[in-house]
Amino acid sequence: MGSTPSDYSKLREAAEEKLGSSSTQAPSCSTEELLHELQVHQIELEMQNEALRQAQIDLEASRDRYVDLYEFSPVGYITLSPAGLIEQINLTGSTLLGEDRNQLTQKRFALFVAPEERDLWQLVFMRLLGRNGNESCELMMQRKDGTLFHAHLDNLHIDGEQPQVRIALSDISDRYHAEEELRIAAIAFESQEGMMVSDSHGVIVRVNQAFTRLTGYSAAEAVGQTASLLRSGRHDKLFYDHMWQALRDRGFWQGEIWNKRKSGKVYAEWLTISAVKDPKGVITHYVGTFSDITQNKEAEAEIHRLAYYDSLTFLPNRRLLLDRLSQALAISARNGHHGALLFLDLDNFKVLNDTRGHAVGDLLLKEVAQRLRVEVREGDTVSRLGGDEFVVLLEELSVNATESAFAAQMVSEKLVSALAVPYKLDGCEFHYTTSIGVTLFHGHADSVDTLLRQADMAVYRAKRDGRNRQCFFDPTMQSKLDEHSAMVVDLRQAMQRGELALYFQPQMDNKQRIIGAEALLRWQHPQRGLVMPDVFIPVAEETGLIIPIGQWVLECACSQIKVWSEHSATRELCLAINVSPLQFRQSGFVEDVERILVATGADPHRLRIELTEGLVIENVADTINRMQVLKALGIGFSMDDFGTGFSSLSYLKRLPLDELKIDRSFVNDLVTDPNDAAIAKTIIIMGQTLGLNVIAEGVETEEQLALLKQYGCNAFQGYLFSRPIPLSAFEEFIDSVEIKELPWLRKDL
Ligand code: C2E
Ligand code: MG
Ligand code: MG
Repeated sequence: MGSTPSDYSKLREAAEEKLGSSSTQAPSCSTEELLHELQVHQIELEMQNEALRQAQIDLEASRDRYVDLYEFSPVGYITLSPAGLIEQINLTGSTLLGEDRNQLTQKRFALFVAPEERDLWQLVFMRLLGRNGNESCELMMQRKDGTLFHAHLDNLHIDGEQPQVRIALSDISDRYHAEEELRIAAIAFESQEGMMVSDSHGVIVRVNQAFTRLTGYSAAEAVGQTASLLRSGRHDKLFYDHMWQALRDRGFWQGEIWNKRKSGKVYAEWLTISAVKDPKGVITHYVGTFSDITQNKEAEAEIHRLAYYDSLTFLPNRRLLLDRLSQALAISARNGHHGALLFLDLDNFKVLNDTRGHAVGDLLLKEVAQRLRVEVREGDTVSRLGGDEFVVLLEELSVNATESAFAAQMVSEKLVSALAVPYKLDGCEFHYTTSIGVTLFHGHADSVDTLLRQADMAVYRAKRDGRNRQCFFDPTMQSKLDEHSAMVVDLRQAMQRGELALYFQPQMDNKQRIIGAEALLRWQHPQRGLVMPDVFIPVAEETGLIIPIGQWVLECACSQIKVWSEHSATRELCLAINVSPLQFRQSGFVEDVERILVATGADPHRLRIELTEGLVIENVADTINRMQVLKALGIGFSMDDFGTGFSSLSYLKRLPLDELKIDRSFVNDLVTDPNDAAIAKTIIIMGQTLGLNVIAEGVETEEQLALLKQYGCNAFQGYLFSRPIPLSAFEEFIDSVEIKELPWLRKDL
């Protein structure tokens, strides 16, 4: 280690400094000088030795560093002899080859190349030996224990007496696998399924070719947009909220979704979205894969249609009917309403099929289906069981069995006549009739199968009884309905035959004097005898016959008033008639009354119309209008059966009434039931407050009369005085009692 002159002078200065103060005064004699010089040299020498030792240490340390760098380098260094034997190898190299370094020297390197790659390595090695330069290659290497790894080899020709090859060997298995994964991912991404990758904000960052094929949007059009680009508008906000919630909670969502193509066409897709998270669990991307399932959906709908609908008429088939019927039974069990099953069978359909062929038969069936659809309510089911058999399911008829039977009968009569209208098929006119079997259902009393069997049996009976008709399964119900039908027929003729009559029931004041009468209808039936209004008035209302009947009552009553007005004994009597809501609301009712009054010459002040609360409530404004017009003529109004309806003070005040008629049900138990007594008393007070007369009907006993009088009632009607009786008997009755002219009856005078 040589010293430069400047190093030397520095060394000297340092040595001088070490000699200390003793040497500050330079010695004067040469011996001393020499001694000083010697000391300086000595110190210099020691210092040089020290520096040398230090340099030695440094050198060794640095050599160790280079050795470390060589031995533990990330790549293996291997030097091969021209024979391909390992001459030198660093530690990393021996680790990579999986064998102790001592065992490796002079071993054939090719042994560590996987057998199938050895030929390749041999070629590379020969090339390298033959020329200066380097060459890289990738090989599958095999460790001593037989395990394989992917390696990258940087090979260098080293010139010399004997050329050598130096290899820098690195294990690239991880990179190789990563690249392999990427290759697989790239292939997978370009699969048949549409794929879309979006960032954590839902902005599309990548789509595959299938995406473009399925949606119509190119990658350039889609990237940068959000997935809402595809929204069809068929799903509400809640749908998407749930989807995002699932992605946030579980990192996954899968389901059917309607999306829209670029062309605007809406399609169904099966979509799977997975959230991609970073190592900290934060969502970085979403990967959506989807396939078009529109065809599946259509197929599904088609399967559903085939499974539940008849392919000829498109009506529900047996399976759907059974389904609906069991639902209907459950609903009926809940709400207590009856329903009905109508089994229809075309009469002689087979003949048409046999003579005109099946094509015409099919036309008829389609036409029948169409007519049935038109006739029933929206909620009812029309189905075809097969052949010429149809079933109509009627739901929610009434809580009352008889009323439900009537309703079902009306519908089936309507169907029978709708299906009897001639058919124009294939240019020809055909006449066809239908038989219907009806059965009622209520809750789960009968099973679905039982009901169908019952309706089937009933249709059989309808056919046996002459076809073109309907028949009920339940014989008692049937006889009730038959009776009902017969009554309708009879009632239509009753007026012409003069079978209807008015009976009169006297109305008395509190001093047993007669003040008027209520006219009550009776039907003198040739077979049934005297039929009471409770039996036939509902039938008359249901069929609309109440209009002509009511008119007849009005005419009779007015004629009677006129007759009575001509006799001093009866001149003061008032006659009350009952008017049905249907009649009262009839558009020409007011005019009819006016006309009849004029025609008969009756005094309107002697006529009283009894209305019921139900009528008033339904259309208060219209009722008031009509009442006012009639009232202006002088006609009086009585609220019949008062107390059984709404009895609301609010509408009572608005109506131009003259009288409240306490319903006979309250009078009946007046003496025994304090509640009824309280009601009667309240009605009387209410009437007095409103300035109305109050009459009690159904007075049968003296006690009732006494109590009513005590409460302040001043008019009465009931068996205690007389039952409703024919005119002649009524006139006799008049002769037997005093007639009292009451001021409230004489408003005209
Ligand atoms: P309503 O108008 O409440 O008639 C009173 C009913 O009570 C009558 O029954 C009468 O016979 C009955 N009655 C009277 N006093 C007593 C009694 O002391 N005890 C009992 N138990 N009953 C008594 P009816 O004649 O059978 O009439 C029944 C219903 O038929 C009438 O009730 C009325 O709503 C209706 N009606 C009768 N005639 C006609 C009519 O010409 N047109 C309309 N639309 N309905 C009528
Ligand atoms: Mg009445
Ligand atoms: Mg009444």
